[in-house]
Amino acid sequence: MKYIHDINLKGKVALVTGAARGIGRACCLAMAEVGADIAVGLRDIDKDSGLIDELNELGVNVLPVQMDVSDKKQIDEAVAQIISHFGRIDILVNNAGIAPDNLIENYTEEDFDKTIAVNLKGTFFTSQAVGKQMIEQNSGRIINLSSQAGFIALAEESVYCMTKAGISHLTKCFAAEWAKYNINVNAVAPTFIETPGTEPWLNKPEFKKDVLSKILLNKVGQPIDVASAVAYLASPAGDMITGSTMMIDGGWTIV
Ligand code: NAD
Repeated sequence: MKYIHDINLKGKVALVTGAARGIGRACCLAMAEVGADIAVGLRDIDKDSGLIDELNELGVNVLPVQMDVSDKKQIDEAVAQIISHFGRIDILVNNAGIAPDNLIENYTEEDFDKTIAVNLKGTFFTSQAVGKQMIEQNSGRIINLSSQAGFIALAEESVYCMTKAGISHLTKCFAAEWAKYNINVNAVAPTFIETPGTEPWLNKPEFKKDVLSKILLNKVGQPIDVASAVAYLASPAGDMITGSTMMIDGGWTIV
């Protein structure tokens, strides 16, 4: 008799986009630690971040793939390569995301289009390509990176906020449409997490002080905090969860 579902991904194949650093990197390492083989989606496969070596040390099978998620051709080629190598894909983490900041009145069309292309179009078409395989398998887990910015308005982040709100709603749409294929689709919505992406901001003492005054738990998050939730949602422990966005915000959005 077992009284708790395992958080074990042995025998599963996971693809993480934007995996070179920050939260994506942490998701690869967390899922590898609980046994998953990892397809590492990289915007620039020629840049060595040391991640592949670290994953190999954990004893799982690893496949780096060239995958700029704003380019549908690269998405389709990478997914085909992963299927040909591993024969299946069980878990997709749509992590790649960008956040060019600017006042609304100064926002450029170029930054607007780029943010939509990576955050929304990338998430949609990566899910579509991987989903076709999951439909054939009649099983799968998709976990999208939303943000607290999809639930509250952050100054100078209007376009980013819009894409993250979109991701949480898209998560529900995919969950509703693909439940019949036994594909669970969820999102996680972190507050400020210490990553290379947020470093320039969190290094400003006034900015960090303001952030800490809004996070009720009075600490910024670490990539492992997000990666642990992602591994949970990807595991048998997440069997009955679909269409949800899990807040990982230290309480910022509840007051
Ligand atoms: P980061 O900037 O540190 O890393 C982003 C990664 O995405 C990089 O490896 C980069 O190469 C990759 N990437 C960018 N454009 C890409 C593209 N076109 N194709 C493929 N990969 C691409 O970011 P992070 O802080 O680790 O955030 C990761 C995700 O989590 C993002 O979606 C972000 O919006 C979300 N998020 C982050 C925080 C935070 O505070 N760090 C909070 C909430 C949500």
